[in-house]
Amino acid sequence: MFETLSDRLDKVFTGLRGKGRLSDADIDATAREIRIALLEADVALPVVREFIAAVKDRARGSEVSQALNPAQQIIKIVNEELVGVLGGETRRIRYAKTSPTVIMLAGLQGAGKTTLAGKLGRWLKAQGHTPLLVACDLQRPNAVNQLSIVAGQAGVDVYAPQPGNGVGDPIAVARESIEHARRTMHDVVVVDTAGRLGIDAELMAQAAGIRDAVQPDETLFVVDAMIGQDAVTTAIAFQEGVGFSGVVLTKLDGDARGGAALSVRGVTGQPIMFASTGEKLVDFDVFHPERMASRILG
Ligand code: GDP
Repeated sequence: MFETLSDRLDKVFTGLRGKGRLSDADIDATAREIRIALLEADVALPVVREFIAAVKDRARGSEVSQALNPAQQIIKIVNEELVGVLGGETRRIRYAKTSPTVIMLAGLQGAGKTTLAGKLGRWLKAQGHTPLLVACDLQRPNAVNQLSIVAGQAGVDVYAPQPGNGVGDPIAVARESIEHARRTMHDVVVVDTAGRLGIDAELMAQAAGIRDAVQPDETLFVVDAMIGQDAVTTAIAFQEGVGFSGVVLTKLDGDARGGAALSVRGVTGQPIMFASTGEKLVDFDVFHPERMASRILG
């Protein structure tokens, strides 16, 4: 991930290194190259525009033109702007004052929701919580089974539909799971929901129904970072259809160009909270904008 972008930016900065002072023309040429690097990395156009405007604006100010080492100054500006685009501060889960905290997962099929439920379960348990994973993906025949498997691997409990317990009705299962969590002293409920291959009205209505039933403290939009520009369109559709408070990027281990990571915050205004970097439950961590920016800049 990000190799191409890192390489491109590195070349831009290398070209600047020999220079003493930077003219406006130098700054414009640099900005143009950074723009191309971002567009090639699949970053959404409005995000690129804003990014370049900010870099240019700051680079033309005294902090660069007066600097003895302009390349260093430009790198510093790009780094700070990247951190900003990635969300600035690390955004932690906001736990409810009264248990259970409800975290709902939403996203397309194959985005990695069920895997994420296991990862979150394991992570929450390591933080001292007693999570309950709830199977509300009743569309995909194997999803309930898959959730039970990841819950077993994570060593956490699972709530799945039982006969007479809302079989086939994910909204009823979701509602009952909260009652169950209260009775059984689970302090965080992670609700896995169904996703379709494409965005459709029925999927959105079902996810919105689950949302209304469980009143989540956090709704996490789970998105495969490999889908490029589609990540942005999908994010907008979920924001309108269900709403969400945070984003989880999955498959960051792939060799995609990384545009989703750099666009989704700017386009939706919601922070990236976690990142998934593989199929195993340990391949998961809190998303740190500063660390990600440093990784991109190498
Ligand atoms: P869901 O349909 O949204 O519940 O998606 P799943 O959790 O079933 O994941 C779909 C596929 O993606 C599975 O084969 C997972 O093993 C895989 N997967 C999930 N997260 C990651 C990740 O971060 N990296 C990689 N490489 N694969 C992942």
